[in-house]
Amino acid sequence: MLQFYLLAGCGALAVLAGWQAWQHRLERARAARDHALALERQREEIQARVLAQFQARQQAIFNSMIEGVLLLDEQGRVRMINDSLGKFFGLTTDIRGQTIMEAFRWHQLAALALRLQREKHVTGAELEIHRVRRRCWEVNAVVVTGDQGLEQGQLFVFHDVTRLKELENIRTEFVGNVSHELRTPLSLIKGFVETLLDGALRDPQQATRFLQKIDKHSDRLLFLIEDLLVISRLESGQAGLHLQQIDLRDLAQRVIEDIAAPAAARKTTIENNIPPHTVVWADTNRLQQVLFNLADNAIKYGKSEGCVTLSARESDGDKVEVSVADDGPGIPPESIGRVFERFYRVDRARSRESGGTGLGLAIVKHIVQAHGGEAWVQSTMQKGSTFFFTLPRKAGPPAGPAS
Ligand code: ADP
Repeated sequence: MLQFYLLAGCGALAVLAGWQAWQHRLERARAARDHALALERQREEIQARVLAQFQARQQAIFNSMIEGVLLLDEQGRVRMINDSLGKFFGLTTDIRGQTIMEAFRWHQLAALALRLQREKHVTGAELEIHRVRRRCWEVNAVVVTGDQGLEQGQLFVFHDVTRLKELENIRTEFVGNVSHELRTPLSLIKGFVETLLDGALRDPQQATRFLQKIDKHSDRLLFLIEDLLVISRLESGQAGLHLQQIDLRDLAQRVIEDIAAPAAARKTTIENNIPPHTVVWADTNRLQQVLFNLADNAIKYGKSEGCVTLSARESDGDKVEVSVADDGPGIPPESIGRVFERFYRVDRARSRESGGTGLGLAIVKHIVQAHGGEAWVQSTMQKGSTFFFTLPRKAGPPAGPAS
């Protein structure tokens, strides 16, 4: 019996020892697992921190770019947009996770994303969008692939080419206008020459009349080419202004003498109301051209037997405001903002008939801007128009090329 109890006791002790050893191993395994889990968590945290730092750095780089940058994920949802593009769209909320249509409602871009899926790489795509004003973008886009060549999304880089497009349109329009302006007198000249060759040459009276017309239209061509050269030099900043102190009243008097003949032809009186000793800081020849163009227009477009007045007053302490006023029919309100544009005319026929090139006021604006001043007009129908411009009184920093 005792033997039995001893054996049972020993057995129980052995079970207890085994259970304890097993418990111990279990605890060690648990501790090892917890340790491994903690290490894994730590590794994940470090990884997430490194990724967040990398993404923040990446975002900072993209945000410093003038170009717009947009990154879509493999489902075509916004993963990243840089500040430049975000500002253009006026984004105030986080659009990450949205599709192109949800985020921008821009069909052209959605179509480009579809095209990119097929072609994997698109360069120089031209997109347009009308927000407050029309904006044009040149977009380069590429499918982003990972290490294993798996597609991970699409990257778009937007270059704003609005200004370039505007300049391109201005240039095309300008070339069209110039061609038209050159062709009109040239075809008239050619017509008269052909009539002379066809027999009019034998009639001295008719021949003289046609030759006078040819002379008039050749002059028109010459003036146009001269005006075009002036504009081109002013726009490229090659005008090379020789700035000096000029007595404005004296210069205006010289201009009045230069236009005495056309003024007499229209019985226009010209008054020089510029106070004596009004001094401006300007290029004599250019300023003379400004006064000439304005006074000449005032005679041409003012009423016959009218009055043209040249005046000047001090403005803002360091400037002189000059004005040329007429008492003619005035400029319609819808044309006021356009008369300084190249080739803009309120009355085409009248301008041509009086030998106008349509460039006189554009030249005025460019010259005044090259001096650091401004030019503008006020007009009341049936009462008259007054053209104003400002000039510096003293030497100042040179103005950049006129735009
Ligand atoms: P051009 O006289 O050669 O046509 P400008 O650039 O000098 O070209 O003038 C542009 C247009 O502005 C003219 O065609 C004319 O219609 C208008 N304009 C200019 N000056 C006057 C003025 N004093 N009164 C009324 N209209 C004017």
